[in-house]
Amino acid sequence: MKRALITGVTGQDGAYLSQLLLAKGYAVFGLLRRSASADVIAERLRWLGIAGQVTLVDGNLTDISSLIRALNETAPDEIYNLGAQSFVKASWNQPLLTGQVTAMGAANLLEAVRLVRPQARFYQASSSEMYGLIQEKVQSEKTPFYPRSPYAVAKLYAHWLTVNYRESFGMHASSGILFNHESPLRGIEFVTRKVTDGVARIKLGLATELAMGNLDATRDWGHARDYVEGMWRMLQQDVADDYVLATGRTTSVREFCRLAFAHAGLDYERHVKTDVAFLRPAEVDVLHGAARKAREKLGWTPATSLETMVAEMVDADLARHRARM
Ligand code: GDP
Repeated sequence: MKRALITGVTGQDGAYLSQLLLAKGYAVFGLLRRSASADVIAERLRWLGIAGQVTLVDGNLTDISSLIRALNETAPDEIYNLGAQSFVKASWNQPLLTGQVTAMGAANLLEAVRLVRPQARFYQASSSEMYGLIQEKVQSEKTPFYPRSPYAVAKLYAHWLTVNYRESFGMHASSGILFNHESPLRGIEFVTRKVTDGVARIKLGLATELAMGNLDATRDWGHARDYVEGMWRMLQQDVADDYVLATGRTTSVREFCRLAFAHAGLDYERHVKTDVAFLRPAEVDVLHGAARKAREKLGWTPATSLETMVAEMVDADLARHRARM
């Protein structure tokens, strides 16, 4: 039985990846950071019906001694570093914390793996936000980076350190440059979930308006369930490498709103307002990925269309709010 250790196990990707690995017969361990809100910690794992099947291990990316202990205790064959301060907008308010967790956390984990578990395979969750002010119309593994937020700068450090540990120490360390991926388990602060939750509240009469930021930004949105499959495939390769995962389709926030409201029979133009409070100090206007390498080398293609995902997310938020009424 293979063993996997996941950081960020309580997040969207951690939950879907746990589900995938459990279905493949893995023993799944999740690194759990102590927090005051212990009661909501396993919410996403519960939603997927797998909360009892993931073994949670105490630890924190900012504390290398806890990582060494967790690696010794769990003896993983595969390590997935999904833990991060992952909300771009918050990274301007907490830039140093973002650096400590998102950048130095990856350094701590890579170093701990090098010291106590060098034979394990390592996955780093890199991000399309690293392309930022895009240097090519469609972004691939070869496109130069130009990060536009403290979050993206931190992710870029972690990305290059992963490449460097592979090249320096021969570690099986891969970096997945994932474009935005969403689901009913996406955090409510991200634009897609904010919109589908808003649609549900408006549909059920709990609200009338939704205040939004820049509607003209475009993103290449896929479904998280498809993307965790790509992560796993990267670690099954004989040789570690870096891969973009993307759908190859880019859609504006405005169009996402239109689709989501329309799914509930609503006209977004009647409900969506703009509020400068949701604008960012520096914006990433367009992200549009090319996942050709992943398709050719990993046999990976995203299975879920944007329309299907929007419908799933709106329906899930309607059900959540109805259950509370
Ligand atoms: P990101 O790509 O990791 O920053 O993912 P987000 O889902 O947070 O944001 C995606 C895009 O939606 C960015 O260009 C935001 O500026 C834009 N956006 C527009 N309005 C909002 C909003 O109200 N909340 C968020 N989170 N993003 C918004």
